Amino acid sequence: MRQLIAGNWKMNGRLADGAALVGKLQQAVSGLECDVLICPPATLLHTLAAQLAGSAVQVGGQDCHTKVSGAHTGDISAAMLRDAGAAWVILGHSERRTDHGESDAMVQAKTRAAVAAGLSPIVCVGETEAERVAGAQDAVVGGQLIGSLPQDFAQGYAGVVAYEPVWAIGTGRTPSEADVAQMHAHIRKTLVSHLGEAGRGVRILYGGSVKPSNAAALLALPDVGGALVGGAALVADDFAAIAHASHAVAAAARAG
Ligand code: PEP
Repeated sequence: MRQLIAGNWKMNGRLADGAALVGKLQQAVSGLECDVLICPPATLLHTLAAQLAGSAVQVGGQDCHTKVSGAHTGDISAAMLRDAGAAWVILGHSERRTDHGESDAMVQAKTRAAVAAGLSPIVCVGETEAERVAGAQDAVVGGQLIGSLPQDFAQGYAGVVAYEPVWAIGTGRTPSEADVAQMHAHIRKTLVSHLGEAGRGVRILYGGSVKPSNAAALLALPDVGGALVGGAALVADDFAAIAHASHAVAAAARAG
């Protein structure tokens, strides 16, 4: 399965530095055997989508509202993201769940809205450190998945899932390779029981302190379908190095 390397810029980037980063990236990832995506702040979406038109780098948003339009000051709908040039949207990121109190039901409604607007969602799930210490990670992540993904997507789900342990985001810490492999297998099993056959084809990204030095090992693990990258996505050389690691994993798999 072709991997997806997605960059979440969060609340970082202005026109000049965003355009410069994308300019470097465009050349550095051309021709790679993986999908590459950047999710800049909404203020840069249209400009960067225009700059990247015809390149291998796709563009996505970081959140969307559940409704198409209306009296929701400060919010942005999935249709508006699409109109600005986005093809993807990150939903249910732990920072949205924490900062804005987003529940699984809300993430599910946003996922529906995104798909209806023609966007591919990246639905994020992941346990806190306390939940892992308590041994509750499988139950927490399984519950988030079932709550966040509409079951009628059994007919087909165009998006991906990102496993992002909350305690690994922006901390420089990652789970062991065995723990990542175990959780991705658990997510696959949950996707298949929730969505049937459609659950087999959904890419499962790993996210949380992915950087050039650990990308090759993480991306080579079974059922890791790519990476969701925060901090390292703001440095063109680092993000490109992660995409190159994915390309090398694909080449090694092809060679058998
Ligand atoms: C993220 O916020 O989605 C993320 C994975 O961040 P970082 O790579 O900085 O840990």
